[in-house]
Amino acid sequence: MTKLIYQNAFLYVAFLALSLIACGQKKENKTPQNQDSSTVTIFKTPDEWKKILNKDQFGVLRNKETEAPYTGKLLYNKEQGVYKCAGCGSELFTDEMKFDSHCGWPSFDKEIAGGKIKKVEDHSNGMNRTEIVCAKCGGHLGHLFDDGPTATGMRYCVNSLSLNFEKTEKVVQQQYDTITLGGGCYWCVEAIYEMLDGVKSVESGFSGGKVANPSYREVCMGTTGHAEVVQIVFDTKKTSLDEILKVFFTVHDPTTLNRQSADVGEQYRSVILYRNAAQQKTATDIINQLNKEKVYDQPVVTAVQPFKVFYKAEDDHQDYYNANKSNGYCKMVIQPKIEKFEKLFKDRLKKN
Ligand SMILES: [Zn+2]
Repeated sequence: MTKLIYQNAFLYVAFLALSLIACGQKKENKTPQNQDSSTVTIFKTPDEWKKILNKDQFGVLRNKETEAPYTGKLLYNKEQGVYKCAGCGSELFTDEMKFDSHCGWPSFDKEIAGGKIKKVEDHSNGMNRTEIVCAKCGGHLGHLFDDGPTATGMRYCVNSLSLNFEKTEKVVQQQYDTITLGGGCYWCVEAIYEMLDGVKSVESGFSGGKVANPSYREVCMGTTGHAEVVQIVFDTKKTSLDEILKVFFTVHDPTTLNRQSADVGEQYRSVILYRNAAQQKTATDIINQLNKEKVYDQPVVTAVQPFKVFYKAEDDHQDYYNANKSNGYCKMVIQPKIEKFEKLFKDRLKKN
């Protein structure tokens, strides 16, 4: 038992020592950079390199020296951005690939794909290591080890001096987003979204057809190709497309083709009209999920299509439910849906 502990302790110390040597060994080998013509596309003489690199960068990139551990300016950098070769600007790593290895040099668990980094066997200083080199300019970057702690198992141990970091500006999340949904009679759908916290505006109208500026009467005849839709503008800080669609799939029946209860016709079809790939993905993911978990007895028939144009319906069709609460249709059809929504989303109603 005691022996085993000593053995383990010895192995640990040996490992620590090795890993320090691994990166930290200052390379005395001054052979000129082997510029392999199969990948290198930037050729410069040492004097030309000296014009664009400072002395320390030149030492590392062109003479394969190693910066002292814990001295590199990028060691603790955690900003979002891209790490580029300090010699030629080739993009090698991103912030998402960087991890804290406690070895004293910036470490990455993978590289940007595309053969931008070349691996070269390195038997210098009595060690067998894999040197990593910028494929474009032949600049020495550091070494690659297979002792990484992440899923890739790799540790790219790179000199800060070999890299330039370019910060990416954070994409400011757009505060308002817009989605257009057809879930049968728009009076119902509009009334419900008016109540959801984070919804800025809801308009009833028509979309997905072939006639410009259709009237309600024309759409009702079922010949314009349009669906009754609502156009929802929502605050992405208060709600999300995910939630908007959860409401959508709660308050209408997405399994009946061109029909919601007694309302029959193409104009009552279930449809999500997306404006970008992210919206398309969110919609498709939810539908796949609903089908997979068999939330409905029948498969979801909701169409997911690119948005083209929205025609707002006549004024007397806007906010119809609130203006006509005593109307039979409102009482019979809309009110039960609203009650269902209020029950299921009671924490998400507008507070006024
Ligand atoms: Zn380079």
